Amino acid sequence: MQIKADLHIHTIYSKDSLITPKDLVFYAKKRGLNAVAVTDHNQLEGAWKISKETDFLIIPGMEISSSDGHIVALNVKELIPKGFSAVETVERIHRAGGVAIACHPYVYFKGCLREKVCSMFDAIEIINARAFPFKNSVKKAEEAAKRLKLSRVAGTDAHYGPQIGYGYTIIEAAEPSVEAIAKAIVKGDCQPFGQPVPLVINLEQQFLRLKRMAKKFSST
Ligand SMILES: [Zn+2]
Ligand SMILES: [Zn+2]
Repeated sequence: MQIKADLHIHTIYSKDSLITPKDLVFYAKKRGLNAVAVTDHNQLEGAWKISKETDFLIIPGMEISSSDGHIVALNVKELIPKGFSAVETVERIHRAGGVAIACHPYVYFKGCLREKVCSMFDAIEIINARAFPFKNSVKKAEEAAKRLKLSRVAGTDAHYGPQIGYGYTIIEAAEPSVEAIAKAIVKGDCQPFGQPVPLVINLEQQFLRLKRMAKKFSST
């Protein structure tokens, strides 16, 4: 069966995201998704908590700050520590039973892997809907996927509800389960789709973030 999933979403368990578990499910359904991956920065607890507390299909994961750049791990059952090299981090993800994705490998303003992307990864994030520069990063990721024979996925890297679903992956999974989705991604039974999040939505996010920070500041 076909699963439409946004594979890169941050929730309030990442300090820099505005997405509550309620927002997550609301916008995922609104955008016609069947599944979402929760990939908070160096955090795993929130993802598993949300997956247990909601009846929507949640792929628990995390985004790890390796010393070589950001790496998304899906379906890991234990926390993968930050600060290790890309190679060491991927090995740890595999030992934890997870799927290792080289996320936004060729963008500015984010920790990206560039030449550290290697064939040890299971997949590469071709489309990150909040990547800058968008077209160039897609092109470079496509080239690396071809060269290294990696599965191709997409996600939004959403930090604000209305951003969810701009990047998504169509996965041919045997059944709607986390294990089946993980297996299909590793096998390469998936296709990336998406477009950049509209500027106005990103500005709205920045505005709300500043507003929240100002509120916190004035209440202390
Ligand atoms: Zn990142
Ligand atoms: Zn991210």
